[in-house]
Amino acid sequence: MSDNKDFLSEKERRRLRVKRMKKMLIMTLVISILIPIITCIVLCVKVAHLESDMRDLIEAKNSSTSVAEGGTDSESPNAIQSQPDSENYTKEDETLAQEETSVETVTETEPQVMKKVYLTFDDGPSVNTQNIIDILARYNVKATFFVVGKTDDASIALYKQIVDSGNSIGMHSYSHRYSTLYESTDAFAQDLAQIRQLITDATGVEPVLYRFPGGSSNTVSGEPMTEFIKYLNEQNITYFDWNVSSQDATSNAVSVDEIYNNVMAGVDNNDVSVVLMHDTEYKNTTVEALPKIIEGLQSQGAEILPLSADVSPIQHVKASEVNE
Ligand SMILES: [Zn+2]
Repeated sequence: MSDNKDFLSEKERRRLRVKRMKKMLIMTLVISILIPIITCIVLCVKVAHLESDMRDLIEAKNSSTSVAEGGTDSESPNAIQSQPDSENYTKEDETLAQEETSVETVTETEPQVMKKVYLTFDDGPSVNTQNIIDILARYNVKATFFVVGKTDDASIALYKQIVDSGNSIGMHSYSHRYSTLYESTDAFAQDLAQIRQLITDATGVEPVLYRFPGGSSNTVSGEPMTEFIKYLNEQNITYFDWNVSSQDATSNAVSVDEIYNNVMAGVDNNDVSVVLMHDTEYKNTTVEALPKIIEGLQSQGAEILPLSADVSPIQHVKASEVNE
């Protein structure tokens, strides 16, 4: 009897044990299902909150971008682009940058304000022309040569070399003698035809750019300069003066540093600069200053370009204001 009782109680214990295990198993199952569901709900609520915060931040960021755009054009693109490097750059900014594509688009499509510099060399060709071409090539930049009329073999080859090296060639009169060039419109027209023909024959390209000896506002001309400007307009020739002078023509011994400083100071004041320099046998310091000038301009992020008829011209007397 006692054995039977023991047996029963043993059976009972086992049953209880199994029941307990079943209970635990069900509990474990319920918990393992409930925890992810609860976690999901909590996370969803948090995500909703974060999304709302994000929208607020994006709006705040967009409105501050608009304010920056209203300021100086040259500063705003830099201000936006330099953010990742600044000390104030935070994880929040990083998230915004990654997820807020519209702000990124604004940054990318904004025009880059880049200084444009057109280096121009008057009075060549000369023994220095090839040196200038070589220096420009070394830095992979192009410039513009406003040349005068010379018929020796070396000069004829240099006209062609200017064009073949990808630089621009412009006319600077054939004679460069103020007294005859500016004597009358006929004299001016005859001189123009002469230099145009010479360059066309030497290079195979008809020149369309012009620079007046002394500039369009010179006071040595007997005739009003507007007469000659009118004539150039008729011939579809664009003339360029300059808004930066290297001052290398003030004497034959202007130092490299003076030329460099004059150019850099002048370029500082303009978004677009047309720089006056000279290409003659006497202007060795201009050639010596050229690498330093190019390096200085490039370190400022300036674009060094050759002139073309498409470039909006710098003119002391505006061609568009001279009536037909
Ligand atoms: Zn000249």
